[in-house]
Amino acid sequence: MFCSHREVVVAGQKKKLSVTKGIIGGLLFGPLGAVGGAAGLGKTRTMFTCVKCGKTFDHVPSGSHIVG
Ligand SMILES: [Zn+2]
Repeated sequence: MFCSHREVVVAGQKKKLSVTKGIIGGLLFGPLGAVGGAAGLGKTRTMFTCVKCGKTFDHVPSGSHIVG
């Protein structure tokens, strides 16, 4: 469910965590581990929150701008 305010902020910082995971995977399992860790990036959910009404989304609503 999207709202119509079209202004969202990034609420989650899980992306950073996955990058770290990828690096750790690379250290533990070599290039293959790094790829496996990077693959986890696709599963990562960055949350976005509407600045006007506070609704959260798991991806940017179409036409919305990330303002923060
Ligand atoms: Zn809204």
